[in-house]
Amino acid sequence: MNCQDLQRLVHAYLDYELDLMTSLDLEAHLNECSACRARHAEMRALRDLEARQLRFHAAPAPLKARIARNMRAACGNDDARRWRAWRAATAVSVLALAALLAWVVLPRTLPGPHQVVAQSQEKMVYHIANSEDVATALRNVANLLEISPDARIVVVANNQGVDFLLRGARDRDGTPYEPAVSRLKVRGVDFRVCNNTLARRRIDSSQVIPEAKLVPSGIAEISRLQTREGYAYMKL
Ligand SMILES: [Zn+2]
Repeated sequence: MNCQDLQRLVHAYLDYELDLMTSLDLEAHLNECSACRARHAEMRALRDLEARQLRFHAAPAPLKARIARNMRAACGNDDARRWRAWRAATAVSVLALAALLAWVVLPRTLPGPHQVVAQSQEKMVYHIANSEDVATALRNVANLLEISPDARIVVVANNQGVDFLLRGARDRDGTPYEPAVSRLKVRGVDFRVCNNTLARRRIDSSQVIPEAKLVPSGIAEISRLQTREGYAYMKL
């Protein structure tokens, strides 16, 4: 499955209309394609939000009763068939009006999809560009996880900030960084290393510890996380 197939099928997927094999195919693509994953998350969030908001469009009971009374008076009490036709026609127009209102009003009053995603889950990208900032950053990340265990946290390292993610790296007191990084990784924190930095500083990628992942550019990664995945940015 490619990105185009996914765009074509994602609505059906969100409606649980796809067969199992196609769903699995689609999920496999979501797993490996961050662009489609971001788009899918936005659509799901928007859909959930619409479902929640649209529930509140039912008319209040007294208003409903008053409309029914007035219409019965207008139609004449004895003509039950005409009354039912009226009622059906009115129900259709009320629904159409609600749909129109939803169409016109919701997009303006609701926050955009990025904000929706950000509200449903805390997402933070930490940018480490200096080795002096590492201890503070790791402490910050651990604190955030204490407060919000479900937060999605990505640490992006570039320039001198990549050093602590290299094999055998130790802090000023001689304590190795890797165990701390491992512990955070187990708790869901992603560590990403700028490949441009490695190339510029002539560091072989085999020097990067296995807990960290390479990205082509640290700055591009941070920008992507912010604009496409709704991450908040934390520079240290
Ligand atoms: Zn894709």
